[in-house]
Amino acid sequence: MTSHAIHHPPTLSRRMTDVGQAPEQVTALVIDDDAMMRLLVRETLEGVGMTVAEAADGMSGIAELDRARPDIILLDVMMPDVDGFATCRLLREHAQGRHTPIVMITGLDDDESIQRAYEAGATDFVVKPINWPILAYRIRYVLRASTALEDLAKSESSLANAQRIAKLGSWKWNVRLGTWWLSPEGARMLGVDRSSPPAGDPLFGRIHADDRDRVRRSVDAALEGGSALHVEYRVTLGDAGECALEVQAEVNRDAGGRAITVTGTVQDVTERAHAAERISHLAYHDSLTGLPNRLRLKEYLGDALTRAARQERIVAILFLDLDNFKRINDTLGHNVGDELLKEVATRLTASVRLEDRVVRDTDSPSPANIARMGGDEFILILTELQQPQDAAKVARRILDALSQRFFLQAREVFVSASVGIALFPQDGRDQDALLMNADTAMYKAKEQGRNTYQFYARAMNATAFERLSLENDLRRALERDEFLLYYQPKIDTASGEIVGSEALLRWRHPELGTVPPGVFIPLAEESGLIVPIGNWVLDTACRQNRAWQDLGHPLLYVAVNMSGSNFRQKNLLNLVGLALRESGLAAQHLEIEVTESLLMRDLEETVELLKRLKALGVRLAIDDFGTGYSSLSYLKRFSIDTLKIDRSFVNDITTNADDRAITSAVIALARSLSLSVVAEGVETLAQSELLQALGCSVMQGCFYAKPMPAKEFEGLLRCGLPTGTPKAVRDRIAIPTINSSPAHSRLTANA
Ligand code: C2E
Ligand code: MG
Ligand code: MG
Repeated sequence: MTSHAIHHPPTLSRRMTDVGQAPEQVTALVIDDDAMMRLLVRETLEGVGMTVAEAADGMSGIAELDRARPDIILLDVMMPDVDGFATCRLLREHAQGRHTPIVMITGLDDDESIQRAYEAGATDFVVKPINWPILAYRIRYVLRASTALEDLAKSESSLANAQRIAKLGSWKWNVRLGTWWLSPEGARMLGVDRSSPPAGDPLFGRIHADDRDRVRRSVDAALEGGSALHVEYRVTLGDAGECALEVQAEVNRDAGGRAITVTGTVQDVTERAHAAERISHLAYHDSLTGLPNRLRLKEYLGDALTRAARQERIVAILFLDLDNFKRINDTLGHNVGDELLKEVATRLTASVRLEDRVVRDTDSPSPANIARMGGDEFILILTELQQPQDAAKVARRILDALSQRFFLQAREVFVSASVGIALFPQDGRDQDALLMNADTAMYKAKEQGRNTYQFYARAMNATAFERLSLENDLRRALERDEFLLYYQPKIDTASGEIVGSEALLRWRHPELGTVPPGVFIPLAEESGLIVPIGNWVLDTACRQNRAWQDLGHPLLYVAVNMSGSNFRQKNLLNLVGLALRESGLAAQHLEIEVTESLLMRDLEETVELLKRLKALGVRLAIDDFGTGYSSLSYLKRFSIDTLKIDRSFVNDITTNADDRAITSAVIALARSLSLSVVAEGVETLAQSELLQALGCSVMQGCFYAKPMPAKEFEGLLRCGLPTGTPKAVRDRIAIPTINSSPAHSRLTANA
């Protein structure tokens, strides 16, 4: 029988070596109750070099499985007790027999028993009488086929495994029929049940709304023209949330170029997308404070400068450096230092919130216009400025905010900062020049004794000598009578009457002309001159108001602004009392305006002082409300009469929903505390109407009247707004009738 080996077709012997199995290593198990049959099979198969094991019935055949570990089983169908079909089933249930090819030997070649054999798990069958020379070939073919199948199954499962590990699925889309095939991993990824054909479009059916149009365009383009498709997009997976997919595909076309099928891969790139986001956040943000870093800032600044150049606007770059940070770090430790920096970042963000709400970094919770440059250096970029002096205002506000005590790890810590300001376009046209000049200005601020700000340009920011002379001028201004007060009416739109005025200080400088308070008040504050100046304002405003009353005009209240230094004079109560007595003005016709941040200093003392002022009968207003800390809880503790909504809110109220919401909340708050509200800086009819709709009726602003000298204001009291004022405005202000106007009676009734 060895001759069989000689006649083996070459493919057969190759197959044997292919799987690394020499012919003699093939073990066949013969299960047959007929001893003669077993002997013949053994003779035949051993003749071609196989090893043969035998069993005389089904159960001992199964027992033989573990011992012989056959590569193939020959199984007789007709056996007593357990027949071949049942044995086949049992073999298949056995671990060792699950994948072993089983050839059934049957005398029945009817369709039904062949069918039964396959159903029982048979691999193939031979029919008796057996053609012995052929049997060995038959067995080898069966072995070969089953090994190929096994290999295929293995490679399929390793492919599926690889796909699962790579989170890579494959798919095929029959464009004409609209049918889809998905690999297991693809189905898992897309949440599709693979047992039934996917309904609808499993791949492009649930694209995130923001990505939908873009993906549709790519798919359409691939179908129509190009052949490759490569898109990344997010899909919404119901409860499972959102995932990011990367799809790559090729379009297969017919001869006419029409798309027939699209085959491709789909990969779950959610983690990668998150990582990319995270990386870009890390790359663009300071990990300690969460603020944008130098890199992000430069991008932002570049954009801001381009925009500003186009719109012919100014941009201010504020370079801030803490004054005593090193000392804090050295004495209190790095943890406290880190906490301080975080807290500084928070206060900075709160302080500039108002300036630059328009341009925001969409993927960052903090506005991109504040950045930490490293160490204790911060940069702020202001793009919404009307005039350079606004930058100084912000700088001052920041310095005020930082001068409030910090509470770090149960310790009180005080810091100050120095700020340098460079302006676009005058101090530089590109970012590097601007940043460098802001830095230089910051050093000037340090030289000035810290806790202050300096402009880069000399003109904006007098040098020490110029400052000195301006300070001297300021000192002499009182003696030379260079100060004067302008008055701006406050109008109650409900009645159309003027209910009060605000006294606003002006300096008529012999050479510089009229200097606005924004320029000289900070100087007066720093030099302490604000104290005598403030007292002059108080006296003058009281006298003026009384003088108008003496002329028979309605009894309005006059509002006087008070700086921190004025407010903190030891004898403030006496001074107010004196001003009232000397002018003869009733206390309820004087209102004192203080800013929110001023109130927040030395809380207990402030509460006490306000109570005593209140006891005098003086009205109290919070100026620029909303720009400070807006810690509303304290409002109740202060005996405040009026909240003045800051003009930065009013300015954008018709266009900015945030401003509208804040304003509306302030008005509601004022109502709930029975405070009156005044809107400052009302410039348009639209603003006025909106404010009224929100429940604020008292307005102050250029739409009604600009601040004006006392003489003009008297004219206003006498005959209303001057001719030339738009009728729409004039109609809104009733001319008060002398001494009998409702305003008069109301104000006296309040007394
Ligand atoms: P403030 O108390 O908020 O005063 C309102 C400012 O808004 C005034 O600027 C006024 O002229 C301006 N204003 C009025 N209507 C409009 C308008 O429709 N649109 C716009 N954009 N602005 C309007 P002013 O007179 O330059 O005063 C600036 C700041 O100087 C005042 O702000 C106040 O904080 C301070 N100030 C003025 N007088 C004194 C004073 O006697 N003592 C102290 N300590 N500070 C004063
Ligand atoms: Mg004011
Ligand atoms: Mg104000």
